[in-house]
Amino acid sequence: MIFSQLPTVAALIAAVTALSAQPPAATPTRADILRGAYGPYRANNDLLFYHLDVRVDPEKKFLSGKVTIRFKMLQDATRIQLDLHAALHVDKIVLGDTTLKYERDSGAVFVDFPETLRAGRTYSIEFYYSGNPVETGRFGAITFKKDPAGHPWINTACEGTGASVWWPNKDQWRDEVESMEISVSIPHDLVDVSNGKFMGKTDLGDGYTRWDWLVQYPINNYDVSLNIGNYQHWADRLGDLPLDFYALPENLEKAKKQFAQAKGMLEAYQHYFGEYPFQKDGYKLIEAPYSGMEHQSAVTYGNRFANGYLERDWTGVGISPRFDFIIIHESGHEWFGNSITAADVSDMWIHEGFTTYLECLYVEYMWGRDDGLKYTNGYKSRVRNLQPIITPRGINKEPPQDQYFKGALFLNTLRSVVNDDARWWTLLHDFYQHFKYQNIMTEDVVRYFNQQTGMNLTPVFDQYLRHPTLPALELKWDEAAGTVAYRWKADEPGFQMPIRVGTKDHWQILQPTVEWQTMKTPLKKAEFEVATDLYFVTVSKL
Ligand SMILES: [Zn+2]
Repeated sequence: MIFSQLPTVAALIAAVTALSAQPPAATPTRADILRGAYGPYRANNDLLFYHLDVRVDPEKKFLSGKVTIRFKMLQDATRIQLDLHAALHVDKIVLGDTTLKYERDSGAVFVDFPETLRAGRTYSIEFYYSGNPVETGRFGAITFKKDPAGHPWINTACEGTGASVWWPNKDQWRDEVESMEISVSIPHDLVDVSNGKFMGKTDLGDGYTRWDWLVQYPINNYDVSLNIGNYQHWADRLGDLPLDFYALPENLEKAKKQFAQAKGMLEAYQHYFGEYPFQKDGYKLIEAPYSGMEHQSAVTYGNRFANGYLERDWTGVGISPRFDFIIIHESGHEWFGNSITAADVSDMWIHEGFTTYLECLYVEYMWGRDDGLKYTNGYKSRVRNLQPIITPRGINKEPPQDQYFKGALFLNTLRSVVNDDARWWTLLHDFYQHFKYQNIMTEDVVRYFNQQTGMNLTPVFDQYLRHPTLPALELKWDEAAGTVAYRWKADEPGFQMPIRVGTKDHWQILQPTVEWQTMKTPLKKAEFEVATDLYFVTVSKL
Protein backbone atom coordinates (compact mmCIF):
# COMPACT_ATOMS: atom_id res chain seq x y z
CA MET A 1 0.00 0.00 0.00
CA ILE A 2 1.09 3.57 -0.34
CA PHE A 3 0.62 6.54 1.89
CA SER A 4 -2.32 8.40 0.43
CA GLN A 5 -1.52 12.06 0.42
CA LEU A 6 0.53 14.82 1.89
CA PRO A 7 -0.88 16.10 5.15
CA THR A 8 -1.99 19.69 5.10
CA VAL A 9 -0.18 22.15 7.32
CA ALA A 10 -3.32 22.38 9.43
CA ALA A 11 -3.32 18.61 9.92
CA LEU A 12 0.34 18.67 10.92
CA ILE A 13 -0.26 21.44 13.43
CA ALA A 14 -3.25 19.51 14.79
CA ALA A 15 -1.08 16.39 15.13
CA VAL A 16 1.66 18.25 16.96
CA THR A 17 -0.86 20.00 19.20
CA ALA A 18 -2.54 16.71 19.97
CA LEU A 19 0.81 15.15 20.83
CA SER A 20 1.91 17.95 23.11
CA ALA A 21 -1.43 17.76 24.89
CA GLN A 22 -0.55 14.10 25.65
CA PRO A 23 -3.98 12.53 25.34
CA PRO A 24 -4.29 9.05 26.80
CA ALA A 25 -3.65 6.34 24.22
CA ALA A 26 -6.92 5.17 22.75
CA THR A 27 -8.05 2.01 24.48
CA PRO A 28 -8.46 -0.80 21.98
CA THR A 29 -12.08 -1.78 21.47
CA ARG A 30 -13.35 -5.34 21.80
CA ALA A 31 -13.55 -5.43 18.01
CA ASP A 32 -9.87 -4.36 17.75
CA ILE A 33 -8.86 -7.17 20.08
CA LEU A 34 -11.00 -9.77 18.32
CA ARG A 35 -9.44 -8.73 15.01
CA GLY A 36 -5.92 -8.10 16.24
CA ALA A 37 -5.18 -10.76 18.82
CA TYR A 38 -4.03 -14.23 17.93
CA GLY A 39 -6.48 -15.63 20.45
CA PRO A 40 -6.94 -19.26 21.55
CA TYR A 41 -9.53 -20.07 18.88
CA ARG A 42 -7.15 -18.90 16.18
CA ALA A 43 -4.01 -20.38 17.70
CA ASN A 44 -5.54 -23.86 18.00
CA ASN A 45 -5.44 -24.38 14.22
CA ASP A 46 -3.25 -23.88 11.18
CA LEU A 47 -4.79 -22.78 7.88
CA LEU A 48 -4.07 -24.94 4.84
CA PHE A 49 -6.41 -23.94 2.04
CA TYR A 50 -9.31 -21.71 1.02
CA HIS A 51 -11.61 -22.03 -1.94
CA LEU A 52 -13.50 -18.76 -2.28
CA ASP A 53 -16.44 -19.35 -4.61
CA VAL A 54 -18.42 -16.13 -4.94
CA ARG A 55 -21.13 -14.79 -7.22
CA VAL A 56 -21.14 -11.05 -7.75
CA ASP A 57 -24.28 -9.18 -8.82
CA PRO A 58 -23.10 -5.76 -10.04
CA GLU A 59 -26.55 -4.17 -10.15
CA LYS A 60 -27.65 -5.25 -6.68
CA LYS A 61 -24.09 -4.83 -5.31
CA PHE A 62 -24.69 -8.23 -3.80
CA LEU A 63 -22.33 -11.11 -3.00
CA SER A 64 -23.30 -14.72 -2.36
CA GLY A 65 -21.18 -17.80 -2.12
CA LYS A 66 -19.17 -20.05 0.05
CA VAL A 67 -15.65 -20.47 1.29
CA THR A 68 -14.21 -23.93 1.80
CA ILE A 69 -11.72 -23.66 4.65
CA ARG A 70 -9.27 -26.48 5.27
CA PHE A 71 -7.19 -26.38 8.43
CA LYS A 72 -5.14 -28.63 10.66
CA MET A 73 -5.84 -28.68 14.38
CA LEU A 74 -2.84 -27.96 16.58
CA GLN A 75 -4.73 -28.79 19.80
CA ASP A 76 -7.87 -30.71 20.68
CA ALA A 77 -10.73 -28.20 20.62
CA THR A 78 -14.42 -27.73 19.84
CA ARG A 79 -14.31 -24.08 18.72
CA ILE A 80 -12.43 -21.99 16.15
CA GLN A 81 -12.58 -18.29 15.31
CA LEU A 82 -13.31 -17.01 11.83
CA ASP A 83 -14.31 -13.50 10.83
CA LEU A 84 -17.01 -11.91 8.72
CA HIS A 85 -18.15 -8.28 8.71
CA ALA A 86 -21.41 -7.75 10.58
CA ALA A 87 -23.05 -6.39 7.41
CA LEU A 88 -22.84 -9.82 5.76
CA HIS A 89 -25.14 -12.73 6.53
CA VAL A 90 -23.98 -16.16 7.61
CA ASP A 91 -26.20 -18.50 5.59
CA LYS A 92 -24.81 -21.72 7.10
CA ILE A 93 -21.57 -23.35 8.12
CA VAL A 94 -21.20 -27.08 7.53
CA LEU A 95 -18.74 -29.87 8.25
CA GLY A 96 -19.72 -32.63 5.83
CA ASP A 97 -23.43 -33.22 6.50
CA THR A 98 -23.37 -31.53 9.88
CA THR A 99 -24.61 -27.97 10.19
CA LEU A 100 -22.47 -26.20 12.75
CA LYS A 101 -23.53 -23.73 15.40
CA TYR A 102 -21.80 -20.41 15.58
CA GLU A 103 -21.76 -17.24 17.63
CA ARG A 104 -21.12 -13.79 16.16
CA ASP A 105 -19.31 -11.15 18.18
CA SER A 106 -18.66 -7.89 16.27
CA GLY A 107 -16.58 -9.06 13.28
CA ALA A 108 -15.75 -12.49 14.71
CA VAL A 109 -17.63 -15.71 14.02
CA PHE A 110 -16.92 -18.42 16.60
CA VAL A 111 -17.71 -21.80 15.06
CA ASP A 112 -18.62 -24.65 17.43
CA PHE A 113 -18.21 -28.33 16.64
CA PRO A 114 -20.41 -31.03 18.20
CA GLU A 115 -17.40 -33.31 18.67
CA THR A 116 -13.83 -32.51 19.62
CA LEU A 117 -11.54 -31.77 16.71
CA ARG A 118 -8.32 -33.67 17.25
CA ALA A 119 -4.81 -32.23 17.22
CA GLY A 120 -2.90 -33.24 14.11
CA ARG A 121 -6.01 -33.94 12.05
CA THR A 122 -7.16 -31.94 9.05
CA TYR A 123 -10.75 -30.68 8.69
CA SER A 124 -12.63 -28.90 5.96
CA ILE A 125 -15.70 -26.76 6.52
CA GLU A 126 -17.89 -24.82 4.13
CA PHE A 127 -18.96 -21.33 5.11
CA TYR A 128 -21.94 -20.03 3.09
CA TYR A 129 -22.57 -16.29 3.16
CA SER A 130 -24.34 -13.47 1.35
CA GLY A 131 -25.19 -9.79 1.54
CA ASN A 132 -24.33 -6.26 0.50
CA PRO A 133 -20.82 -5.46 1.72
CA VAL A 134 -20.18 -1.99 3.09
CA GLU A 135 -17.78 0.37 1.36
CA THR A 136 -15.34 1.47 4.03
CA GLY A 137 -11.71 2.40 4.60
CA ARG A 138 -9.27 4.23 2.42
CA PHE A 139 -9.95 2.54 -0.91
CA GLY A 140 -13.50 1.46 -0.08
CA ALA A 141 -12.48 -2.19 0.68
CA ILE A 142 -14.87 -3.35 -2.06
CA THR A 143 -16.40 -0.86 -4.46
CA PHE A 144 -19.12 -1.20 -7.07
CA LYS A 145 -18.34 1.53 -9.58
CA LYS A 146 -18.91 2.19 -13.24
CA ASP A 147 -16.08 2.81 -15.66
CA PRO A 148 -16.22 5.98 -17.82
CA ALA A 149 -18.09 4.04 -20.54
CA GLY A 150 -20.74 2.92 -18.05
CA HIS A 151 -19.71 -0.73 -17.54
CA PRO A 152 -19.63 -2.17 -14.03
CA TRP A 153 -16.18 -1.86 -12.42
CA ILE A 154 -15.84 -3.75 -9.15
CA ASN A 155 -12.60 -3.87 -7.22
CA THR A 156 -11.35 -4.86 -3.79
CA ALA A 157 -8.60 -3.21 -1.73
CA CYS A 158 -9.16 -4.10 1.91
CA GLU A 159 -5.82 -3.94 3.72
CA GLY A 160 -6.50 -2.33 7.08
CA THR A 161 -10.23 -2.95 7.00
CA GLY A 162 -9.63 -6.68 6.56
CA ALA A 163 -10.73 -9.19 3.96
CA SER A 164 -13.66 -10.27 6.14
CA VAL A 165 -15.38 -7.12 4.91
CA TRP A 166 -16.24 -9.11 1.77
CA TRP A 167 -15.61 -12.81 2.43
CA PRO A 168 -15.37 -15.06 5.49
CA ASN A 169 -11.88 -16.07 6.55
CA LYS A 170 -9.48 -16.23 9.50
CA ASP A 171 -8.80 -12.52 9.30
CA GLN A 172 -5.37 -11.98 10.83
CA TRP A 173 -1.79 -11.86 9.54
CA ARG A 174 0.06 -14.66 11.37
CA ASP A 175 -1.45 -17.64 9.60
CA GLU A 176 -1.82 -18.01 5.85
CA VAL A 177 -3.22 -20.77 3.68
CA GLU A 178 -0.65 -22.68 1.64
CA SER A 179 -2.69 -22.32 -1.53
CA MET A 180 -6.07 -21.07 -2.65
CA GLU A 181 -8.68 -21.34 -5.37
CA ILE A 182 -10.76 -18.33 -6.31
CA SER A 183 -13.92 -18.78 -8.39
CA VAL A 184 -15.81 -15.66 -9.36
CA SER A 185 -19.16 -15.77 -11.14
CA ILE A 186 -20.09 -12.58 -12.98
CA PRO A 187 -22.30 -11.47 -15.88
CA HIS A 188 -20.89 -12.96 -19.06
CA ASP A 189 -19.79 -9.68 -20.67
CA LEU A 190 -17.36 -8.87 -17.83
CA VAL A 191 -13.85 -10.10 -16.98
CA ASP A 192 -12.59 -11.04 -13.52
CA VAL A 193 -8.90 -10.82 -12.69
CA SER A 194 -7.99 -12.37 -9.36
CA ASN A 195 -4.78 -13.72 -7.88
CA GLY A 196 -2.77 -16.65 -9.16
CA LYS A 197 -2.89 -18.55 -12.41
CA PHE A 198 -5.92 -18.30 -14.67
CA MET A 199 -7.40 -21.82 -14.92
CA GLY A 200 -10.29 -21.13 -17.29
CA LYS A 201 -13.86 -19.91 -17.40
CA THR A 202 -17.17 -21.73 -17.49
CA ASP A 203 -20.46 -20.50 -18.94
CA LEU A 204 -23.02 -21.13 -16.20
CA GLY A 205 -25.93 -20.93 -18.64
CA ASP A 206 -27.80 -18.23 -16.75
CA GLY A 207 -26.05 -15.20 -18.17
CA TYR A 208 -23.17 -15.64 -15.74
CA THR A 209 -19.65 -16.96 -16.32
CA ARG A 210 -17.37 -18.37 -13.62
CA TRP A 211 -13.70 -17.38 -13.73
CA ASP A 212 -11.34 -19.77 -11.93
CA TRP A 213 -7.94 -18.78 -10.50
CA LEU A 214 -5.38 -20.90 -8.66
CA VAL A 215 -2.95 -19.40 -6.12
CA GLN A 216 -0.03 -21.81 -5.73
CA TYR A 217 1.69 -20.05 -2.83
CA PRO A 218 0.79 -18.82 0.66
CA ILE A 219 -1.29 -15.63 0.45
CA ASN A 220 -2.44 -12.92 2.88
CA ASN A 221 -6.18 -12.51 3.23
CA TYR A 222 -6.02 -8.84 2.27
CA ASP A 223 -4.13 -9.68 -0.92
CA VAL A 224 -7.03 -11.76 -2.22
CA SER A 225 -8.75 -9.62 -4.79
CA LEU A 226 -11.50 -9.21 -7.34
CA ASN A 227 -11.09 -6.95 -10.34
CA ILE A 228 -14.24 -7.15 -12.38
CA GLY A 229 -14.70 -4.94 -15.40
CA ASN A 230 -14.65 -4.50 -19.14
CA TYR A 231 -10.94 -5.29 -19.18
CA GLN A 232 -8.75 -5.69 -22.23
CA HIS A 233 -5.89 -8.14 -21.79
CA TRP A 234 -2.44 -8.41 -23.31
CA ALA A 235 0.42 -10.71 -22.43
CA ASP A 236 4.18 -10.70 -22.43
CA ARG A 237 6.99 -12.67 -20.80
CA LEU A 238 10.16 -11.98 -18.90
CA GLY A 239 12.17 -15.14 -19.48
CA ASP A 240 9.90 -17.91 -18.17
CA LEU A 241 7.71 -15.55 -16.18
CA PRO A 242 4.27 -14.88 -17.70
CA LEU A 243 3.30 -11.21 -17.57
CA ASP A 244 -0.39 -10.36 -17.97
CA PHE A 245 -1.75 -6.85 -18.21
CA TYR A 246 -5.31 -5.55 -17.99
CA ALA A 247 -6.69 -2.09 -18.70
CA LEU A 248 -9.94 -0.48 -19.79
CA PRO A 249 -10.24 -0.19 -23.59
CA GLU A 250 -10.06 3.61 -23.54
CA ASN A 251 -6.70 3.46 -21.75
CA LEU A 252 -5.21 0.57 -23.67
CA GLU A 253 -2.52 2.43 -25.61
CA LYS A 254 -1.42 4.53 -22.63
CA ALA A 255 -1.37 1.41 -20.46
CA LYS A 256 0.73 -0.58 -22.94
CA LYS A 257 3.32 2.17 -22.92
CA GLN A 258 3.34 2.71 -19.14
CA PHE A 259 3.15 -0.94 -18.08
CA ALA A 260 6.31 -1.67 -20.08
CA GLN A 261 8.14 -0.41 -16.95
CA ALA A 262 7.19 -3.66 -15.20
CA LYS A 263 10.05 -5.52 -16.90
CA GLY A 264 12.78 -3.19 -15.67
CA MET A 265 11.26 -3.25 -12.21
CA LEU A 266 11.25 -7.06 -12.13
CA GLU A 267 14.83 -7.19 -13.39
CA ALA A 268 15.97 -4.76 -10.70
CA TYR A 269 14.31 -6.61 -7.84
CA GLN A 270 15.42 -10.01 -9.13
CA HIS A 271 18.95 -8.64 -9.23
CA TYR A 272 18.86 -7.80 -5.53
CA PHE A 273 16.64 -10.52 -4.07
CA GLY A 274 16.43 -13.42 -6.49
CA GLU A 275 13.60 -14.89 -8.54
CA TYR A 276 10.19 -13.23 -8.57
CA PRO A 277 8.37 -14.95 -5.68
CA PHE A 278 5.27 -16.15 -7.55
CA GLN A 279 6.77 -17.58 -10.71
CA LYS A 280 4.10 -20.29 -11.23
CA ASP A 281 1.27 -17.76 -10.74
CA GLY A 282 2.82 -15.12 -13.00
CA TYR A 283 2.89 -11.35 -12.62
CA LYS A 284 -0.20 -9.28 -13.42
CA LEU A 285 -0.76 -5.54 -13.48
CA ILE A 286 -4.38 -4.41 -13.53
CA GLU A 287 -5.95 -1.00 -13.92
CA ALA A 288 -8.09 -0.05 -10.88
CA PRO A 289 -10.07 3.02 -9.81
CA TYR A 290 -7.79 3.84 -6.83
CA SER A 291 -4.07 4.60 -6.73
CA GLY A 292 -2.77 1.06 -6.25
CA MET A 293 -2.37 -2.02 -4.10
CA GLU A 294 0.04 -4.91 -3.84
CA HIS A 295 -2.44 -7.76 -4.41
CA GLN A 296 -0.28 -10.85 -4.73
CA SER A 297 0.61 -11.66 -8.35
CA ALA A 298 -2.20 -9.25 -9.35
CA VAL A 299 -0.92 -5.76 -8.54
CA THR A 300 -3.55 -3.06 -9.05
CA TYR A 301 -2.73 0.25 -10.63
CA GLY A 302 -4.46 3.63 -10.73
CA ASN A 303 -1.64 6.14 -11.18
CA ARG A 304 -3.08 7.83 -14.30
CA PHE A 305 -0.48 6.23 -16.64
CA ALA A 306 2.04 8.90 -15.71
CA ASN A 307 5.38 8.88 -13.94
CA GLY A 308 5.76 10.09 -10.37
CA TYR A 309 2.91 9.54 -7.95
CA LEU A 310 -0.41 11.01 -9.07
CA GLU A 311 1.62 13.29 -11.35
CA ARG A 312 3.70 14.67 -8.48
CA ASP A 313 7.45 14.51 -7.97
CA TRP A 314 7.01 12.19 -5.01
CA THR A 315 10.31 12.75 -3.18
CA GLY A 316 10.75 16.26 -4.56
CA VAL A 317 14.31 15.87 -5.83
CA GLY A 318 13.68 15.43 -9.55
CA ILE A 319 14.04 11.63 -9.65
CA SER A 320 10.45 10.44 -9.20
CA PRO A 321 9.38 11.80 -12.64
CA ARG A 322 11.64 9.18 -14.26
CA PHE A 323 9.43 6.23 -13.26
CA ASP A 324 5.92 5.19 -12.30
CA PHE A 325 5.82 5.18 -8.53
CA ILE A 326 2.89 2.76 -8.26
CA ILE A 327 4.40 0.11 -10.54
CA ILE A 328 7.69 0.27 -8.65
CA HIS A 329 6.30 0.49 -5.11
CA GLU A 330 3.34 -1.89 -5.23
CA SER A 331 5.27 -4.53 -7.16
CA GLY A 332 8.11 -4.33 -4.61
CA HIS A 333 5.62 -5.72 -2.12
CA GLU A 334 5.70 -9.04 -3.96
CA TRP A 335 9.00 -9.59 -2.11
CA PHE A 336 8.19 -7.69 1.12
CA GLY A 337 4.57 -7.91 2.21
CA ASN A 338 3.43 -10.82 0.08
CA SER A 339 6.32 -13.29 0.14
CA ILE A 340 7.74 -12.15 3.49
CA THR A 341 4.78 -11.01 5.61
CA ALA A 342 4.66 -9.50 9.08
CA ALA A 343 2.88 -11.75 11.58
CA ASP A 344 1.13 -8.78 13.21
CA VAL A 345 0.06 -5.40 11.80
CA SER A 346 2.24 -3.85 14.53
CA ASP A 347 5.35 -4.82 12.53
CA MET A 348 4.06 -3.65 9.16
CA TRP A 349 7.32 -1.73 8.56
CA ILE A 350 8.56 -5.12 7.28
CA HIS A 351 6.20 -4.48 4.36
CA GLU A 352 6.37 -0.72 3.98
CA GLY A 353 9.86 0.19 5.21
CA PHE A 354 11.45 -2.49 3.07
CA THR A 355 9.31 -1.75 0.03
CA THR A 356 10.07 1.97 0.25
CA TYR A 357 13.74 0.98 0.45
CA LEU A 358 13.17 -1.18 -2.65
CA GLU A 359 12.20 1.99 -4.51
CA CYS A 360 15.58 3.41 -3.50
CA LEU A 361 17.30 0.24 -4.74
CA TYR A 362 15.40 0.47 -8.01
CA VAL A 363 16.68 4.02 -8.49
CA GLU A 364 20.22 2.92 -7.67
CA TYR A 365 19.96 -0.04 -10.09
CA MET A 366 18.67 2.18 -12.90
CA TRP A 367 20.62 5.42 -12.40
CA GLY A 368 23.42 4.73 -9.94
CA ARG A 369 24.37 5.24 -6.33
CA ASP A 370 24.27 9.04 -6.24
CA ASP A 371 20.71 9.21 -7.54
CA GLY A 372 19.73 6.39 -5.20
CA LEU A 373 20.99 8.38 -2.23
CA LYS A 374 19.36 11.55 -3.45
CA TYR A 375 16.02 9.80 -3.82
CA THR A 376 16.34 8.15 -0.40
CA ASN A 377 17.19 11.39 1.36
CA GLY A 378 14.32 13.11 -0.40
CA TYR A 379 12.12 11.12 1.98
CA LYS A 380 13.49 12.94 5.03
CA SER A 381 11.02 15.77 4.59
CA ARG A 382 8.16 13.30 5.13
CA VAL A 383 9.40 11.85 8.42
CA ARG A 384 7.67 13.10 11.55
CA ASN A 385 9.40 11.26 14.44
CA LEU A 386 6.27 11.60 16.57
CA GLN A 387 5.51 7.96 17.33
CA PRO A 388 7.46 4.70 17.25
CA ILE A 389 7.25 2.77 13.98
CA ILE A 390 6.24 -0.43 15.78
CA THR A 391 2.81 -0.27 17.43
CA PRO A 392 1.45 -2.45 20.27
CA ARG A 393 0.75 -6.01 19.22
CA GLY A 394 -2.53 -7.85 19.16
CA ILE A 395 -4.89 -4.89 18.71
CA ASN A 396 -4.84 -4.47 14.92
CA LYS A 397 -3.08 -1.11 15.26
CA GLU A 398 -1.56 0.15 12.02
CA PRO A 399 1.78 1.95 12.41
CA PRO A 400 2.21 5.63 11.57
CA GLN A 401 3.45 6.71 8.15
CA ASP A 402 7.04 6.83 9.44
CA GLN A 403 7.04 3.08 8.78
CA TYR A 404 7.52 3.97 5.09
CA PHE A 405 9.99 6.82 4.91
CA LYS A 406 11.86 6.47 8.18
CA GLY A 407 11.84 2.71 7.60
CA ALA A 408 13.66 3.16 4.29
CA LEU A 409 16.06 5.76 5.71
CA PHE A 410 16.81 3.37 8.58
CA LEU A 411 17.72 0.57 6.14
CA ASN A 412 19.93 3.02 4.26
CA THR A 413 21.58 3.80 7.61
CA LEU A 414 22.06 0.11 8.31
CA ARG A 415 23.90 -0.25 5.00
CA SER A 416 26.35 2.41 6.18
CA VAL A 417 26.71 0.66 9.53
CA VAL A 418 27.58 -2.59 7.75
CA ASN A 419 30.00 -0.43 5.71
CA ASP A 420 30.72 -3.01 3.04
CA ASP A 421 28.40 -2.95 0.04
CA ALA A 422 29.28 -6.44 -1.19
CA ARG A 423 28.37 -7.76 2.24
CA TRP A 424 25.23 -5.62 2.37
CA TRP A 425 23.94 -6.99 -0.95
CA THR A 426 24.57 -10.55 0.21
CA LEU A 427 22.91 -9.83 3.53
CA LEU A 428 19.79 -8.38 1.93
CA HIS A 429 19.55 -11.19 -0.63
CA ASP A 430 20.08 -13.92 1.95
CA PHE A 431 17.67 -12.29 4.41
CA TYR A 432 14.95 -12.37 1.78
CA GLN A 433 15.74 -15.93 0.73
CA HIS A 434 15.87 -17.13 4.35
CA PHE A 435 12.41 -15.78 5.23
CA LYS A 436 10.53 -15.95 1.91
CA TYR A 437 6.95 -17.26 2.14
CA GLN A 438 7.07 -16.83 5.94
CA ASN A 439 5.31 -14.59 8.45
CA ILE A 440 7.85 -12.94 10.73
CA MET A 441 8.28 -10.26 13.36
CA THR A 442 10.96 -7.63 13.85
CA GLU A 443 12.76 -9.90 16.33
CA ASP A 444 13.36 -12.36 13.49
CA VAL A 445 14.84 -9.59 11.34
CA VAL A 446 17.11 -8.36 14.12
CA ARG A 447 18.27 -11.87 15.04
CA TYR A 448 19.17 -12.59 11.41
CA PHE A 449 21.07 -9.34 10.91
CA ASN A 450 22.92 -9.82 14.22
CA GLN A 451 23.88 -13.40 13.35
CA GLN A 452 25.02 -12.60 9.84
CA THR A 453 27.01 -9.47 10.69
CA GLY A 454 28.38 -10.60 14.05
CA MET A 455 27.35 -7.16 15.33
CA ASN A 456 24.92 -6.31 18.11
CA LEU A 457 22.48 -4.22 16.10
CA THR A 458 19.59 -4.68 18.53
CA PRO A 459 19.90 -1.21 20.12
CA VAL A 460 20.11 0.36 16.64
CA PHE A 461 16.95 -1.41 15.42
CA ASP A 462 15.21 -0.56 18.70
CA GLN A 463 16.14 3.13 18.62
CA TYR A 464 14.79 3.58 15.09
CA LEU A 465 11.75 1.34 15.37
CA ARG A 466 10.65 1.49 19.00
CA HIS A 467 11.27 5.16 19.85
CA PRO A 468 10.00 8.26 18.05
CA THR A 469 13.27 10.19 18.28
CA LEU A 470 16.28 9.83 16.01
CA PRO A 471 19.68 9.24 17.57
CA ALA A 472 21.49 12.57 17.97
CA LEU A 473 25.24 12.88 17.55
CA GLU A 474 26.43 15.48 20.06
CA LEU A 475 29.71 17.21 19.27
CA LYS A 476 31.49 19.59 21.64
CA TRP A 477 34.61 21.52 20.60
CA ASP A 478 37.62 22.59 22.52
CA GLU A 479 39.25 24.58 19.76
CA ALA A 480 42.17 25.66 21.99
CA ALA A 481 43.03 22.00 22.58
CA GLY A 482 42.12 21.06 18.96
CA THR A 483 39.72 18.37 20.15
CA VAL A 484 36.11 17.45 19.75
CA ALA A 485 34.10 15.39 22.21
CA TYR A 486 31.33 13.20 20.86
CA ARG A 487 28.59 10.89 22.03
CA TRP A 488 25.18 9.59 21.03
CA LYS A 489 22.11 10.92 22.73
CA ALA A 490 19.55 8.15 22.37
CA ASP A 491 16.73 6.47 24.24
CA GLU A 492 18.33 3.03 24.09
CA PRO A 493 20.83 2.86 26.96
CA GLY A 494 23.20 0.58 25.03
CA PHE A 495 22.99 2.54 21.79
CA GLN A 496 26.19 2.63 19.77
CA MET A 497 26.61 3.06 16.07
CA PRO A 498 29.61 3.90 13.90
CA ILE A 499 29.31 7.05 11.81
CA ARG A 500 31.38 8.87 9.21
CA VAL A 501 32.55 12.36 10.12
CA GLY A 502 35.12 14.89 8.91
CA THR A 503 34.90 16.11 5.34
CA LYS A 504 33.25 14.59 2.25
CA ASP A 505 36.58 13.69 0.67
CA HIS A 506 38.04 12.29 3.87
CA TRP A 507 35.43 10.64 6.02
CA GLN A 508 36.72 8.93 9.11
CA ILE A 509 34.63 6.41 11.00
CA LEU A 510 33.92 7.25 14.62
CA GLN A 511 32.56 4.66 17.07
CA PRO A 512 30.47 6.82 19.38
CA THR A 513 28.58 5.35 22.31
CA VAL A 514 26.32 7.13 24.78
CA GLU A 515 29.44 8.07 26.81
CA TRP A 516 31.60 11.07 25.89
CA GLN A 517 34.83 10.35 24.05
CA THR A 518 37.32 12.85 22.72
CA MET A 519 39.47 12.97 19.61
CA LYS A 520 41.92 15.35 18.03
CA THR A 521 40.71 17.22 14.97
CA PRO A 522 42.23 19.96 12.84
CA LEU A 523 38.72 20.86 11.69
CA LYS A 524 36.91 23.86 13.09
CA LYS A 525 33.32 23.51 14.18
CA ALA A 526 32.00 25.01 10.93
CA GLU A 527 34.15 22.73 8.75
CA PHE A 528 33.36 19.49 10.57
CA GLU A 529 30.73 17.49 8.70
CA VAL A 530 28.73 14.36 9.43
CA ALA A 531 27.68 12.03 6.59
CA THR A 532 23.98 12.57 7.14
CA ASP A 533 23.11 11.30 3.65
CA LEU A 534 24.39 7.91 4.73
CA TYR A 535 23.02 7.86 8.28
CA PHE A 536 19.63 9.21 9.32
CA VAL A 537 20.58 11.03 12.51
CA THR A 538 20.43 14.49 13.97
CA VAL A 539 23.64 16.37 14.74
CA SER A 540 24.07 18.86 17.59
CA LYS A 541 27.19 20.94 17.57
CA LEU A 542 27.40 22.16 21.13
ZN1 LIG B 1 3.29 -0.10 0.28
